[in-house]
Amino acid sequence: MFNSLQDKLESAFKNLKGQARITELNVAATVKEIRRALVDADVNYKIAKDFTDKIRDKAMGEKVLNAISPGQLMVKIVKDELTELMGGEEATFNAKGNPAVILIAGLQGSGKTTFSGKLANYLKTKKGLSPMLVAADIYRPAAMEQLRVLGEQIGVEVYIEPENKDAVAIAKNAVAQSKAKNKNVIIIDTAGRLAVDEAMMTEVSNIKNAIDPQEILFVVDSMTGQDAVNTAKAFNDRLDFSGVVLTKLDGDTRGGAALSIKYTVNKPIKFVSNGEKMDALDVFYPERMAQRILG
Ligand code: GDP
Repeated sequence: MFNSLQDKLESAFKNLKGQARITELNVAATVKEIRRALVDADVNYKIAKDFTDKIRDKAMGEKVLNAISPGQLMVKIVKDELTELMGGEEATFNAKGNPAVILIAGLQGSGKTTFSGKLANYLKTKKGLSPMLVAADIYRPAAMEQLRVLGEQIGVEVYIEPENKDAVAIAKNAVAQSKAKNKNVIIIDTAGRLAVDEAMMTEVSNIKNAIDPQEILFVVDSMTGQDAVNTAKAFNDRLDFSGVVLTKLDGDTRGGAALSIKYTVNKPIKFVSNGEKMDALDVFYPERMAQRILG
């Protein structure tokens, strides 16, 4: 993950490490290399520029020039700013309710159904909750079947109405059922499309309005770089979601999505998905991610 970004940042810090005397020129060169590394990692230029302007100001303010180990001080400044860029503190995730209703949205293929299964598994095994999964993708029978199989695998009930072509009605019926069955959290997997599409957005908004979810998680494939960020913006404009799930972080992703999403939509990343197995899910910690990026 983020291998190329890691290598480029490491090489940027070489300008400062082991130098007897650091000059403003050294700092400027490092800052420029950091900016290039971010842009190469598919971070939008404006975000990269804002980020490195801050790094430069802090480096000058914190007297990197006179520090005993300027390289180390610079790494710390970059780590702190990366943490901030990705949201600072760990985000909260609210799964308390009667039932807690969690709506999952995103493009087709982003990893929504897989994530829905993982989240149910996480809430069941790690939080001791009694979840129910809901298949609200009325267009693709394969998606319903996929969720049914995942539910079976993790021992979580899946609510399906194969003949019902009204996703809003399915979601409402599922909430009623979950109450009858004493489930304390329900996770609704909605239909995605290959690209942002008005009909899809209207349907998800209608589901949102009908069931008033306490968490709306937007799922996005981290491999899609700046597209991921544009998609996040489109979904957030319509849904005002509560958090982001980044998927496929186990792949060869460059890092742009992880670094740009919070800045763009001002919503926290809450989970990361890093594999196809049901336990390949992590809560997102900005500081740990920043540490990993810096190697
Ligand atoms: P949906 O259309 O949004 O519901 O997407 P799916 O959950 O069906 O996922 C699309 C494909 O991506 C499937 O082949 C999944 O197995 C795969 N997938 C989902 N999440 C991850 C992940 O975190 N890592 C990897 N490597 N593959 C994933």
